[in-house]
Amino acid sequence: MKSKIRKRTYEAIYRLLDQVSPLPYDCGTLCGAVCCTYEDPCGQTEDEPELGIYLLPGEEKLFTQKEDWLSWSREPAEKFDFPLSWHGKVYFVKCKTPPRCPREKRPMQCRTFPLSPHLTDDGFLRLVLCTFQIPYTCPLIEENMELTDSFIQATYTVWKHLIRDPLIFDLVLMDSQDREEDGVPLVFVR
Ligand code: SF4
Ligand code: SF4
Repeated sequence: MKSKIRKRTYEAIYRLLDQVSPLPYDCGTLCGAVCCTYEDPCGQTEDEPELGIYLLPGEEKLFTQKEDWLSWSREPAEKFDFPLSWHGKVYFVKCKTPPRCPREKRPMQCRTFPLSPHLTDDGFLRLVLCTFQIPYTCPLIEENMELTDSFIQATYTVWKHLIRDPLIFDLVLMDSQDREEDGVPLVFVR
């Protein structure tokens, strides 16, 4: 998929997010880094990819696809719950076991979790605690822990940039509308 986000913009985004973390200490110490180590007991099926991470359009430019810590798959966007404007291949990555990514290389989804961008009805960008169903418990979400201002601010800045890309805007809009329609309680952090 063609993305308007250039490689060097993604690199700048990664650098900015390298400077911040959700807590003033490693939140992995709270849960044994379960979001990195969780093993899906069902594995991959025809309709469901193994629990992994999809890359945003264009994010794959930051990778060689030969990283020895990742396994890759490319799936048609139409096969999954992506916006109608998404056509062509979506890249999914999964950390090999044991997870051991170089921190400066981890994908966007790992960098901004547990926050999700949310577009309000009047078009404002907000940040909410992730409402996606995940098969493990993240203490940051469960206990509504106070996140660092620097993490919230950097994550907001990054999503402000990213939604200038129409494909990413469509994804954020679709997820926001789904949240509203599902009536899940939203925890706004910004
Ligand atoms: S983001 Fe949540 S699940 Fe992941 S390491 Fe931090 S506290 Fe644990
Ligand atoms: S890329 Fe890194 S941060 Fe993301 S799930 Fe894998 S080990 Fe965890």
